[in-house]
Amino acid sequence: MIRIGVIVNDEAREGFKGIHGLSIYIDTDEKILLFDTGPLPEILEYNAERMNIDIELIDAVILSHIHTPHIGGVFNLGWASPYLDVYIPYGSMEGLGKKLLGEGLKPHEIIGDTWLSNDILVSKPLNGPPWEHFLIIRSGKGLVVFSGCMHPGLEKLLEYISETLNKDICCIIGGFHLSNAPDRIIEKYVDRLAGEVKPRLIIPLHCSGERFRELLKERMGSNSTRILRAGDFATID
Ligand SMILES: [Zn+2]
Ligand SMILES: [Zn+2]
Repeated sequence: MIRIGVIVNDEAREGFKGIHGLSIYIDTDEKILLFDTGPLPEILEYNAERMNIDIELIDAVILSHIHTPHIGGVFNLGWASPYLDVYIPYGSMEGLGKKLLGEGLKPHEIIGDTWLSNDILVSKPLNGPPWEHFLIIRSGKGLVVFSGCMHPGLEKLLEYISETLNKDICCIIGGFHLSNAPDRIIEKYVDRLAGEVKPRLIIPLHCSGERFRELLKERMGSNSTRILRAGDFATID
């Protein structure tokens, strides 16, 4: 069972701060992970505290890609967790990586498939641009896929997963980057997801866009499309 908490997101519950960005707390049986950190340390800390999430217990941080709404919140984490492992985007060692070292964190550049445990994989970098990697957790029911913005696109992601992992996707969580996409692109994504991939659950967050969410609900049913805001928890089994 995987428990997730949306710490930073464009939309927030009352009492929480919403901002353009993404950060998801992930508690698996094996590890506690933070997927992206939102744009600002203050917001990460503010919302995490109100969710009773103890940032000090996090085993590793995965920064999906170099855009500020995903990485800006990382910089204070060294105070609570010195030498915390931070998996950073391909090509960012010189800039971001050095900065993290200066903050007392331990950056690891993702250059290929990186297994964090038997069932937890950080994908090799796929190019959008920018380079982006995905967090994929093998659960009993299938693959749980975490996406920052999905800049490489759904096709490239699906192709990678079918080449690399011999299992179906049961859940996709995170950004789909479709807020400003033309209708035909949104429809293509929904066709592919509802027609062929058929995950049991999609949680579109951050930059996924209202139109995509509505169409997804229409085609996949409201049980399969869950809308979460910053401050919300969910359990994935
Ligand atoms: Zn995006
Ligand atoms: Zn982005």
